[in-house]
Amino acid sequence: MKPSPGAKAPPASPSVTTAGFRRAMSAGAWAARLADVPVVPLRRQVAETASSPLPDDMPMTLWAEDGFHLRVRDGRVLLLLPTPGAADAYDMSVDPGWLDAVTRIAAARVPALAGVPVARAWAGLYEMSPDKHAILGAAPGRAGLYLANGSSGHGVMHAPALGQLLAEIIVDGAARALDVTPLAPGRFAEGRPNPAGGLL
Ligand SMILES: Cc1cc2nc3c(=O)[nH]c(=O)nc-3n(C[C@H](O)[C@H](O)[C@H](O)COP(=O)(O)OP(=O)(O)OC[C@H]3O[C@@H](n4cnc5c(N)ncnc54)[C@H](O)[C@@H]3O)c2cc1C
Repeated sequence: MKPSPGAKAPPASPSVTTAGFRRAMSAGAWAARLADVPVVPLRRQVAETASSPLPDDMPMTLWAEDGFHLRVRDGRVLLLLPTPGAADAYDMSVDPGWLDAVTRIAAARVPALAGVPVARAWAGLYEMSPDKHAILGAAPGRAGLYLANGSSGHGVMHAPALGQLLAEIIVDGAARALDVTPLAPGRFAEGRPNPAGGLL
């Protein structure tokens, strides 16, 4: 990101220069390939039924003991069951054994789903940080590099806030809307992690 011609100069800040480029890196599960950031991939798989026998307005429903959960979307049901991930952490294929397990569990817990075929399944990668919280701010020791990484599987929900906060950090030199100290990139090296509890 470079100041646009005629843009008002940002307030003086140790992390902001008006001459140099400033770059934001948000490479998700691949972030550690681009910078020294403690983010690792974690595969998450989804199965989608061909139709739905459930009410359209059924809320997302979660079984706390193993994290199995379902969502009714557009006349289909999304089935999700967390696992510890694949042997190759970047593997985004769907494990046939997982597919068997998630459909069996769905039928056992929601009998209306028994016999409803799965139309398709896919997998993606969560971008896990050590404490399962985002890593946001200036990269330690890398002038001009800013990080928005490690949302740990809740990045869609947090993206608007993280985007605004990182823009404030880049332009103003500090986040204004919220105190983002608990998300500081240096917190792991400084022994100040901010551990989260459960994860879907
Ligand atoms: C199955 C599944 C279900 C999910 N459900 C939810 C949910 O319900 N709610 C929620 O909040 N979150 C959910 N998430 C998590 C959410 O998708 C992530 O937290 C979010 O996408 C992270 O955003 P990001 O921009 O950091 O990374 P990403 O969305 O992963 O984007 C990173 C991008 O960087 C690109 N990239 C990587 N390396 C390079 C490079 N060298 N050069 C250029 N580009 C590069 C990648 O191609 C990718 O497009 C889910 C994730 C999965 C896998």
